[in-house]
Amino acid sequence: MSDIIIVGGGVFGLSTAAHFARSHTVTVIDKFTIPSPLSASTDYNKIVRLEYNDEVYANMAVEAMEYWQGKGNTVLPPGLLQDSYSHCGRISVVPPKSSPRYGFEIESLKLLRERFGRCDAVAEFSDDLTCGGMFPEFKSSHGQGTFRFNPDCGIGLAAKSLLTLKRHCESLGVSFLENDGVACIDGGDERVKITLASGKELFAQRALVACGANTSTVVNLNGSVKSTGLYVGHIQLSVEEFEKYKNIPVVFDPTMGYFFPPDRETRLLKLCASASSTYDKASGGLLPRYQHLEPDTVKSIPVQSVAQIRTLIHEYLPELEFDSQGQLREVKDCKICWISDTSNSDFIIDEVPSKPNVFVSCGDSGHGYKFLPNIGSYIKARMDRNLSPQLASKWALRESHWTTQTIPWRVEHKRKHIDEIEWH
Ligand SMILES: Cc1cc2nc3c(=O)[nH]c(=O)nc-3n(C[C@H](O)[C@H](O)[C@H](O)COP(=O)(O)OP(=O)(O)OC[C@H]3O[C@@H](n4cnc5c(N)ncnc54)[C@H](O)[C@@H]3O)c2cc1C
Repeated sequence: MSDIIIVGGGVFGLSTAAHFARSHTVTVIDKFTIPSPLSASTDYNKIVRLEYNDEVYANMAVEAMEYWQGKGNTVLPPGLLQDSYSHCGRISVVPPKSSPRYGFEIESLKLLRERFGRCDAVAEFSDDLTCGGMFPEFKSSHGQGTFRFNPDCGIGLAAKSLLTLKRHCESLGVSFLENDGVACIDGGDERVKITLASGKELFAQRALVACGANTSTVVNLNGSVKSTGLYVGHIQLSVEEFEKYKNIPVVFDPTMGYFFPPDRETRLLKLCASASSTYDKASGGLLPRYQHLEPDTVKSIPVQSVAQIRTLIHEYLPELEFDSQGQLREVKDCKICWISDTSNSDFIIDEVPSKPNVFVSCGDSGHGYKFLPNIGSYIKARMDRNLSPQLASKWALRESHWTTQTIPWRVEHKRKHIDEIEWH
């Protein structure tokens, strides 16, 4: 019997395993080999930003960023994730003053400067994506508007960092049981019973369910979280194009989409379409549908999202719009990436009612990756029942009020039921 079983080896699960590993026997179970094709973070890169107008997350983001940049925290060895991080900066299109996101960005930068002494070199440029010549790669861009460059931002090499953390956990004696998902969990005062899809039964003193968007298949969360599918595509760069674009910052246009510096190994440049998403009506929006498990029903991404990605390329990367044969460049490896949404984007980290010693961490709401180095310390504290009352209450399982009101840092989603999608 393990002290701790963690179901789901994504961001929340691996971080928690690392934080328990030195003092407990830990087993991590995942439906697939980690980094799992179901994990929202099995990807080339993710933004590690500091901008939050909420002091709790701003503090956690600063703590995480310091770690990504090579400093130690109390548990992980210094520099463990430094090779999976690039402090490349981010250019954001400044949204209209009337939008909630505008206020969110201004409040966040004020908080970060005044309270944490960060983001003090942010500068704005009108109709100039090169940001005063800092990024000549964007000379031919058609993008217009006010561009805000924040050098205090980076990207994590997502799948690579998950694998690094898994290997670190293994070196500390954590056991991994992969390619067998968990079907159900029974809580108990003495021990928790975990039944795998294969029928195998395992026991532990405490368990954590951290299955991301798939969490509701394992524990009933009474509609506190919904699964939202976001759209991602990639373009292939040649060696010369890669050399030209390899040092660009992230470019983020909240109404159209965002893109990243190209991946150094594959030369693929990742682009995401913003302001549109999908859900599964059949499950009331509670469950995801993964391309990897259901290739017949989840084929790619919507035609309109590919068009949106093409507009993003046309506006900001016009030199990459066509390939060397003069053909429209293929948008490839298109996929839906599922997140676990809460109605106010606060995480859920709590004990599951009527399942003693079974805990859950989910509700990442699309902003959880950056916390890979430190979210585990908060989850561990909750499982040890010594998380501060303020945080325990913020992340408690709660009734959700799903309204049309936006989460201020997100642009209102146009949500489409997955069965209505015209696939690319
Ligand atoms: C398009 C996109 C862009 C994003 N961009 C950013 C960003 O720029 N910055 C940022 O901070 N965050 C970003 N995120 C969010 C980030 O990816 C998530 O917050 C994070 O991955 C959530 O971690 P998790 O551990 O909760 O779930 P996941 O990382 O999804 O991991 C869940 C794990 O559970 C496993 N699992 C599922 N079901 C079972 C089962 N029954 N039994 C056993 N194992 C199971 C899966 O295989 C997987 O390994 C983005 C997400 C998406 C989709």
